[in-house]
Amino acid sequence: MLKKIRAIRSFFLDLLFPITCFQCKKPGYYLCPQCVQKIERYPNKNCPFCNVFSNAGKTCIKCKSNYALDQLLVFTYYSNPLIKKVIHSFKYSSVHLLARDSSQLLAKLIKENFPQEEYSQSLIIPIPMHPKKQKRRGFNQTQLLGESLSLITKIPLAINLLKKTKNTIPQMQVKNRNKRKDNIKKAFSVNQRKLSLRVLSKRIILIDDVTTTGATLNSCAQTLKQAGFQEIVGVVIAKQPKII
Ligand SMILES: [Zn+2]
Ligand SMILES: [Zn+2]
Repeated sequence: MLKKIRAIRSFFLDLLFPITCFQCKKPGYYLCPQCVQKIERYPNKNCPFCNVFSNAGKTCIKCKSNYALDQLLVFTYYSNPLIKKVIHSFKYSSVHLLARDSSQLLAKLIKENFPQEEYSQSLIIPIPMHPKKQKRRGFNQTQLLGESLSLITKIPLAINLLKKTKNTIPQMQVKNRNKRKDNIKKAFSVNQRKLSLRVLSKRIILIDDVTTTGATLNSCAQTLKQAGFQEIVGVVIAKQPKII
């Protein structure tokens, strides 16, 4: 019911206020392709956990023993005002169009880093939201991003394979690095019925909108590796500066 009301509300809002690019006001987009070209890119030349130089954001050998996530690809910095606006707008704008425009950024990262022949050997998994939270909000923006990304890249999408089983405090509200790690620890589980040898052989592309310490992505990666997956790559829109 709530979902329907939201959909109707966003339909009328779109009629009253036609969408325009947040930056240049071009109609039909929230984030137009020209403005995407101008966004300062994150270099992806460091280990996501200890920051030493590392090609294509791969987890360094030292960190491999402590972290399950193998690689993290970030499009840009969260400090970019346009990106901040895009991510915050998910709360009230026409979410499907926002997802369509912002998933282009994730698609670019994937195209730049993986050859197309490998797409069919990959699987997109959006970071799941706790069912209670998703019910309250009416949608999971990361899932919408995943759906849109799958449409663009034709990489298959798995929605119900990974589930969030612990209703955690939002990571953005936890200010200490270790507490963030604890908060999200064992918060996810894998739906065993969705597993097969064929599925387990795929490269997992975990997607999220923003990351800070990589704790959520790593917690998901840990759960997926325990289930038998071999390679987990995080792909996110923006990275927030590290906290203490
Ligand atoms: Zn624009
Ligand atoms: Zn490292």
